[in-house]
Amino acid sequence: MLYGKNDKSKQNFLTPIFGSLPSDRDIPKYKLNQSPIEPRIASRLVKDELLDEGVARQNLATFCQTYMEDEAVKLMAETLQKNAIDKSEYPRTAELENRCVNIIADLWNVPSDSNYLGASTVGSSEACMLGGMAMKFRWRARAKAAGIDITAHKPNLIISSGYQVCWEKFCVYWDVEMRTVKMDPDNMNMNPDEAMLLVDDYTIGIVGIMGITYSGQYDDIEALDKKLKVYNKTAKVSVPIHVDAASGGFYTPFMEPNLKWDFRLENVVSINSSGHKYGLVYPGIGWIVWKDEQYLPKELIFKVSYLGGEIPTMAINFSRSASQIIAQYYNFLRYGYDGYKEVHKRTHDVAVFLAQNVKDIGYFEIYNDGSRLPIVCYKLKENPDVKWTLYDLADRLQMKGWQVPAYPLPKNLEDVIIQRYVVRADFGMNMAYEFAEDFKEAINELNHAHVVNEKQPAGKKQGFTH
Ligand SMILES: *Cc1c(COP(=O)(O)O)cnc(C)c1O
Repeated sequence: MLYGKNDKSKQNFLTPIFGSLPSDRDIPKYKLNQSPIEPRIASRLVKDELLDEGVARQNLATFCQTYMEDEAVKLMAETLQKNAIDKSEYPRTAELENRCVNIIADLWNVPSDSNYLGASTVGSSEACMLGGMAMKFRWRARAKAAGIDITAHKPNLIISSGYQVCWEKFCVYWDVEMRTVKMDPDNMNMNPDEAMLLVDDYTIGIVGIMGITYSGQYDDIEALDKKLKVYNKTAKVSVPIHVDAASGGFYTPFMEPNLKWDFRLENVVSINSSGHKYGLVYPGIGWIVWKDEQYLPKELIFKVSYLGGEIPTMAINFSRSASQIIAQYYNFLRYGYDGYKEVHKRTHDVAVFLAQNVKDIGYFEIYNDGSRLPIVCYKLKENPDVKWTLYDLADRLQMKGWQVPAYPLPKNLEDVIIQRYVVRADFGMNMAYEFAEDFKEAINELNHAHVVNEKQPAGKKQGFTH
């Protein structure tokens, strides 16, 4: 072997990342760089771009999962290439999806003699869109049959003002009038009597929420069902309930199995939930189940090929990775009913502990004490005798890495500013004690700090949509 003069301008695999040329220049950000960059260096550069995003597990704003077991993460990484829509190439994946739908339908107490149907989606937003479309198409056919002039008015949907933004999207995208029921300030949920006042022949359905993104409370679906039973007896077009159980769907069946909010109720025809909330899977995965095939109009079903035959599908999306579906099945298998219950019970304990901590401090009035969804939600008391706002407190907590949103309540209660912690499975009691200390310290610092008092919290809405 002959060696020549070492050419220092040539990089090789021995070059340390931070000794490399790409790390030493400003790479074009809004057009492609001309030449490739070594994987280890490119990967480092991308990670560094993301450094200051905060620690996901300290983010108390989101319902979305921020932790999965190593085995699950590995399984997901190994199955990322599988396309969920390609039932023919991945029939076993389709089978796992089918099992998930059946497990979920059972969890939501579907009657054993019904021909239920269900599908996975990217999240609850897509699932709500499908549920809403089914209600709209079904209403149209039934209204026509009942001799109603379906062009005289827009069809309408009734929901509490604490709705998640996906319902507003549904109404705009599918040209449906949204009729909102003001949230009852005492219960922070929908008053069923008020909802019934909005019902007419053009109502495609009422959406009940389990639970409300703002407050963590549940709508009283059982009471709503009772009222609809009476109404539907004489109605020209009966009104169904769709339950948006984005967060409650994988929580309530384990924590309050006797609470009737699901398919045990006569008028509940469809339910959605986010697998990536209390289903404990990384985003994005959602689910929808219709109690019976009669609630899903046939014209909304499309067929894709499957092992030489065809399989019906209902989705807005087409291609996406199947790894979330596989991870959902992994969680079902791994945790079982008792596992989910134990995880949620601990999450609940943490929420109750944190709510008590907030209460004990004395400045706050609690809206949700974690006894239902594991959410702590509070506002400053009237005249709390402090110079700071919840926005200041949010900023202080952020200095310690905690992301705790403060935001106004929805319409007719928008003068009320609240703060909310969403407790997730990976927020253990040890972390909670540390957080409680940081919370007290933040308040103590604010009480002694020079706070610039501008009564202008506008533009500071954070993280209340998910
Ligand atoms: C989170 C949430 C949604 C949207 O769910 P994604 O899975 O994020 O699309 C819809 N409705 C409610 C009540 C929610 O809490």
